[in-house]
Amino acid sequence: MNTAIVGINWGDEGKGRMVDLLSSDFDVVVRYQGGNNAGHTVINEKGKFILNLLPSGILRDDVTCVMGSGMVIDLKHLSGEVKRLYEGGISVTPRNLIISDRAVICMPYDVMQDCLEEDRLQGKKFGSTRRGIGPIYSDKYMKKTIHMGDLLYSTKLEQKVKDLVEWKNLLFKSYGKEIDADEMIDYLKQYGKEFVPYIKDTNKFLLDAQKQKKNIMFEAQLGALKDIDFGITPYTSSSNVISAYAPIGSGCPSLKLDSVIGIVKAYSSAVGEGPFVCEMFGDEAEFLRQAGGEYGAATGRPRRVGGFDFPATRYGIDMQAATEIAITKIDVLSKLDKIPVCVAYEFEGKRLDDFPYPELLDDCKPIIEYLDGWGEDISNCKSFEELPKNAKEYLKFLQKGLNAPITLVSVGADREQYFYVKKGELD
Ligand code: GDP
Ligand code: MG
Repeated sequence: MNTAIVGINWGDEGKGRMVDLLSSDFDVVVRYQGGNNAGHTVINEKGKFILNLLPSGILRDDVTCVMGSGMVIDLKHLSGEVKRLYEGGISVTPRNLIISDRAVICMPYDVMQDCLEEDRLQGKKFGSTRRGIGPIYSDKYMKKTIHMGDLLYSTKLEQKVKDLVEWKNLLFKSYGKEIDADEMIDYLKQYGKEFVPYIKDTNKFLLDAQKQKKNIMFEAQLGALKDIDFGITPYTSSSNVISAYAPIGSGCPSLKLDSVIGIVKAYSSAVGEGPFVCEMFGDEAEFLRQAGGEYGAATGRPRRVGGFDFPATRYGIDMQAATEIAITKIDVLSKLDKIPVCVAYEFEGKRLDDFPYPELLDDCKPIIEYLDGWGEDISNCKSFEELPKNAKEYLKFLQKGLNAPITLVSVGADREQYFYVKKGELD
């Protein structure tokens, strides 16, 4: 069984929490894109963990994790992440983690380039996390990168770094800056050494896993609206986050997905710049942000918040080819008397039910309907039956407007705070 866990919206839907929960039935968990711009928070019996680069399956003893070829890896950050996990009682070793030899190394100069560009943009910022992700993916398509596998061949590596630094300095000189090739070589030696034993051909590993009928889970970062091809350009991330990319970015392109679980938050949140039609402002927004703890796990930035967004969510479900939906954080809405839901957009006086071409979003207004709240804590509910009437109505309302079945509902951040939806319960 090959299953992808993906974000349907702007990211931070609770993918890490879902991977942690659902990976109990899986042998392998693969991250297939992105870098340390992700923040996946997991709370379970072992503690609270924030994962940026490592797959969330790393918290399970019997799971092998893979960092796939589609990832961009900041070695220093990875080293720190492994250390933090170790301090939290989790060992990361070549037995539970393998890193694709084809994954790309995100270099300190990519971080520097990202910061310089974001500063230059000033009022027109993209909302970069300043972790070098845009520059390193651009380098990749320019074919000017160092791959993890290069760490195994040190003489060739040194020449490669020298050539890359010469090229990058053409750009940095225009900012009055310069980088030094020897410093970069030292950096790679210092932080690369630790990970050499982890580097493998993940194509072979995953093909073998499939032959042995192992269950493979693919863990996405961000959500459909941040996809480089199908998201809200240019406010996207720089990688393909959608499930269709999972086999490629895993390092084993012949794998096929059997199911795609789309994670959808019971309301909306987004980090960074760009249009966000359903956005709430003022006290109403602050109340929801506080209630949901909507602050970025990777950067600490306050997240923008809004009501559930039907046009964006239906689009995300299509782009992700989601076969089922898990709703998260519905417990957060317990604190609201009236729950705003963006049922459609209005563009030039006309109602839009479908998500439009991104350029039009700036001129779209949300059409909001308010649903009644339920005013009681639901974080201990263990079934749909146990929910208060208005919480049931809220979920039924969501289901009616969505193009995939809701099969699971999360009512808290702890591993066990969830229930499955039985067939027909939301009709
Ligand atoms: P990801 O990037 O999609 O993995 O999501 P994040 O980890 O960035 O953000 C989700 C946040 O919500 C985390 O702090 C989780 O611990 C928390 N969370 C996940 N599911 C639930 C839920 O059902 N209820 C509540 N209250 N918190 C949740
Ligand atoms: Mg996150």
